Order: sequence, then C-alpha cells, then structure tokens
Amino acid sequence: MPPPRRARHARLRDPAGGGDIDDGLVLWFPAPASVTGEDVAEFQVHGGRAVLAALCVAFGRMGLRLAEPGEFTRRAFLNGKLDLTQAEAIADLAAAETEAQRRQALRQLDGALGALYRGWSERLLRLLAHLEAAIDFPDEDLPPRIEREVARDSEALAGEIAAHLADNRRGERLRDAVSIAIVGPPNAGKSSLLNAIVQREAAITSPIAGTTRDVIEVAIDLAGYPVVLADTAGLRESRDAIEQEGLRRALARAAAAELRLFVFDARRPEDAAPAAAWPGATTLLVANKIDLGCGALPAGALAVSALTGEGIAGLLGNLAGRIAADYDCAAPVLTRARHRESLEFALDALRRSHDAKLPELRAEDLRLAWRSLGRITGSTDVEDLLDVIFADFCIGK
Ligand code: GDP
Repeated sequence: MPPPRRARHARLRDPAGGGDIDDGLVLWFPAPASVTGEDVAEFQVHGGRAVLAALCVAFGRMGLRLAEPGEFTRRAFLNGKLDLTQAEAIADLAAAETEAQRRQALRQLDGALGALYRGWSERLLRLLAHLEAAIDFPDEDLPPRIEREVARDSEALAGEIAAHLADNRRGERLRDAVSIAIVGPPNAGKSSLLNAIVQREAAITSPIAGTTRDVIEVAIDLAGYPVVLADTAGLRESRDAIEQEGLRRALARAAAAELRLFVFDARRPEDAAPAAAWPGATTLLVANKIDLGCGALPAGALAVSALTGEGIAGLLGNLAGRIAADYDCAAPVLTRARHRESLEFALDALRRSHDAKLPELRAEDLRLAWRSLGRITGSTDVEDLLDVIFADFCIGK
C-alpha cells in the first residue's frame, strides 16, 4: 500500500494473472479523510479505451463496479462531508458555462448558503424548545414573557426569510440565464441586431416586414454572464393570423424577460413611443441604423448600427453593467427553485404560527417551518429528494 495521500508511481498488474495493464500513479485516502468520507483509492492512468476496459475488467473481478452519476457526491453528503446546497454546487460547477455561473457555484460550494439556512434552523429550533417548555409548564398559564419572546423572534426570522426571498431571483437567473427580449416595430433591425451581437447568422434577416414570426432564442456568454437573447416578431397591427400569433408571443416574451431592448429606426424617434408599455428601468431604447442618419433621440437611447457594428460594444457594456448590478452579488443567494419552495413553505408556516390561537398549534407550525428549512441543507427528512437531486449529476462526480 502506498502511504496515505502520497502519490506513488506504480505498475498496474491484473491480479488474476493477466499481466501488466498500465503504468501510472496510485493514491490512497483512508477514511474518514477522503472526499466521500470512506476509504478511497485513486488510479491515475493513461485514458485510452483499452486501458480503461482492462482496468474495469480487473476491478470487476475484485467485486468493484462503476459509480452511478453523482454517487461520490451522494456518499459525501450521506457521510456528512457536505450539505445538500454544497452537493448541488458541485453539479452547478460541473455544468457552469460562464464565469458568473462558475463564481456563484464556487461560493455555494464554500458553504455560505448552507450556513445561512442552518443558522435560521437553529434559531427556529431554539424558539420551538422554549415554546414547548412553556407548554409543558406545570402551571395552567404560560409564562407570558416566553410567549412574547417567541412571537418577537419568530417574526424577526420571518422578516429575514421574506427579505431573502425578495431577491429578484438573482441567484436562479445567474444559474440559468438572464433573459433579454429584443422588441420593436417591424424592420427596425431587431434580427440584424441579434446577429451583430452573436456575430453569427442566428436569426433570419430580411427586408420584408414581418418575417420573424416566432421567437428565436440564442444563448450567449455576455461578459461572463449567461444570457438568452430572444428575437421577437415586429410590433404592428396585422390581419394575418400567423403574424397576430407572432405578435402575441412577442408581447408575452417581452413581458417575461428580465431586460428588453426596444429597437427602432434612429431616423424615426416617434417609433420609440410604444416602449413606454414596459418598465423603464429594465427597458433599453436602442436607436438602430445610425449609419443612415439620426433624428432627435429620446433620453437614454443608445445609438447603434447593426450593419456597421457602431455602438454595439457600448450596448453590450451597458447590458453587462446592468446585469452585474441587478444579478451579481457576493452575499449568499438561493440558486434553485427547490430552495425557494422550501423557504416559501417555511415562511407560510411561520406566518401561520403568528396567527395561531393555541400555543400547541403555534409550536406545530414552528416545527413545520423548521423541517422545511432543514430540507434545503438536507438536515431533515430528505430521503425522497435525493434521487431527484443526484439525477442531474454526471458520472464521476
Ligand atoms: P427586423 O424586422 O426588426 O428584425 O429587421 P431586420 O433585422 O430584418 O432588418 C430590416 C432591414 O433593415 C434589413 O434589410 C436590414 O439589412 C436593414 N438593417 C438592419 N440594421 C441596419 C443598420 O444598422 N443599418 C442599415 N443601413 N440597415 C440595417
């Protein structure tokens, strides 16, 4: 056996007498100081198909098998090496495609998010213990001081959870993508702008009005941020049923997007008026075709030419700045719908407990809130969740 945690150069031989298999490095991590908390041996070999096949056959004869996707992380979780939010961070790190996604996953792997939720869990448990002690009080009447304290502290906790939930879904947006819809009148150059941004022919441009009838989406890495750009149908009245449907989808997409680029012809500033239908803070006016001339632009409009590329870099810088300000954040943020659901459940239970008439009912609601918080980090009943969570891991993680 090599000494623990020291790489040793070794010749790997088939114990069943099949001869030498490969030449490589061997490492040995005795439990509990290993990634999973169990005994772990690591073989660093030449990655050829025949080498791996021969090793797998030899290991198979020794009773070993390939790990399931996520099995290492799952064992690490079951052995208390990390909590569920950290396990999810490993899946996110493996899937990260942009810098912002990578940074966010690494922060979560550091455990700040889990620590925040565990802190809340512990506070709840203390409140619950106080309340239950008060309920069991030999006297008929509850000591009013304890009741008041529990009410005050659980309201403070509810306030903190509510503030954490009202985060504009920034963590979830950075984990998935920030969606930006390109809207505006027909022929303003929306498809051309999308192409100029992605620098490839992702959308069809054409001089005939109303060619983009459906919504075309392109995922891009914008200065390190994951972004989905959606090109939509031109906003105009039409009798054509397909075009009407395109318009309906364009409006729905624009409403659902985090940011909107309202594109209009720089020579026709009056075309920008419909942009007022969306919130100004998240709707950017883009005056296109400035190579052809420019009228008196509305305040804040960015002048670009999708044709010559003028102003495009400035537009991208502006978008990256907005995304950084609105979605990037060093504080621990919830990154998954799963976290949000558990937090919302906990918050509902806390609020119910405030209105409950009987202390026993109040205690029951506090207990439900505590259990729901525990499901995020995996400290309470999560057996049913594990298969779902570890299903989107890749093999070897
Ligand atoms: P959409 O209907 O808003 O998607 O508009 P398109 O992208 O299809 O563009 C409509 C027409 O305007 C096409 O003929 C484009 O080549 C042209 N166009 C788009 N952007 C510019 C630009 O910046 N300058 C000039 N000169 N023409 C442009």
